[in-house]
Amino acid sequence: MLQPVSVGHKHLSDYTSIVGRPLVDEIRERAEALQGKRILHLSATAFGGGVSEILYTIVPLMADVGLDVEWQVIYGREEFFNATKVMHNALQGNQQDLTTEQWDIWRHYNEINARELPDGWDAIIVHDPQPAAIASLVPTKSRHWIWRCHIDLSTPNPATLEVLLPYLDHYPAAVFHLPDYVPPSIDGRARIVPPAIDPLAPKNMAFSPDDAVYICGQFGIDVERPVLCQVSRFDPWKDPLGVIDAYRIVKAKMPEVQLALVGSMATDDPEGWDYYNATVAHADGDPDIHILNNFNNVGAIEVNAFQSHADILIQKSTREGFGLTVSEAIWKARPFIGGDVGGIPLQITDGESGFLVRSSEECGQRALEILADPGLGKRLGRAGKESVRRRFLSPRLLRDWLAMFGEIGV
Ligand code: UDP
Repeated sequence: MLQPVSVGHKHLSDYTSIVGRPLVDEIRERAEALQGKRILHLSATAFGGGVSEILYTIVPLMADVGLDVEWQVIYGREEFFNATKVMHNALQGNQQDLTTEQWDIWRHYNEINARELPDGWDAIIVHDPQPAAIASLVPTKSRHWIWRCHIDLSTPNPATLEVLLPYLDHYPAAVFHLPDYVPPSIDGRARIVPPAIDPLAPKNMAFSPDDAVYICGQFGIDVERPVLCQVSRFDPWKDPLGVIDAYRIVKAKMPEVQLALVGSMATDDPEGWDYYNATVAHADGDPDIHILNNFNNVGAIEVNAFQSHADILIQKSTREGFGLTVSEAIWKARPFIGGDVGGIPLQITDGESGFLVRSSEECGQRALEILADPGLGKRLGRAGKESVRRRFLSPRLLRDWLAMFGEIGV
């Protein structure tokens, strides 16, 4: 019932010209002692959101350097994903906790998946809280267990975290994006490793401006007029309504501006549609607001086109575990404005590689500043791209995983 995900092939050598030979050599050296090790990534979905985005690259790269690696997606029905969505939101600070019944549902599906899980792994990396109980249920199925947390645990709902923590005690190692996210009781077992984007994936590979224009035009964007764009799930923390408010501030001074809100619907995100509808309602029929999702056929190439073409890219989140969309955006060398929360300030130095903002007003004002001064936008974009090249591309993440496997004795 666990579904293996087929990830295709990627070759580390293809990244050499982008990240440089020393890093590629270091990776190969670290991989030598790990040849043939059986590694399993377990996650809740193979589609939508940051976790699957990362795994589609890191899994084939681990295979390319000699690990025997698989990715499997756990089984769950709507009742499970409804419960885990409440858990996800509560762990990021929402008041609403799971009901006793929802906790039981969560445990029940973890038990089903734990039973089905094949045996004999050198290490299992469990991503996020959805499958987190599995290590406690079948500890002997792997020599090592690692919990990989992708969410912002800095201000969790204490009641929710209290129930989850005993399950996390079964992981001798846990990996977080930022030191701020580590719950005090996990401190001694925590490692800090930010995620990364794949510069060669269709979403991030170099695109000619003409191709980007052609694709954006197909979605009804007037390519002669400025466009602001946010790419993200329809989720309250991503604040698409706040982005619309910021756009309206720009629109008042610059009537020709347009907004594109591009958001995919994840299979483990039942709330997504409600929030999508709320966003459409907030746009109030404005023909210059384009709200698109994967059901309009917006896939990786289209996201790339929007990010490559937009005059300003926005990620106005009010909570953000890391925000892959931030590195994706600035990798396109476009000027960027993001919420000053979670993983966004890790990726952006305010005023140098983008702007950090705390409100829709500030976001609108910064957008006006950039639109009035193309030189400023270019400088921000160039500096942003360079910082992603140094810090947030997949080979660096691969190196960090291999270093960790070496340290814990996988
Ligand atoms: N994404 C996408 N299409 C969309 C919206 C998002 O492909 O319409 C991708 C986005 O490009 C990024 C990932 O989904 O790679 C979202 O990861 P992020 O860390 O930004 O946020 P999360 O959704 O995990 O909270």
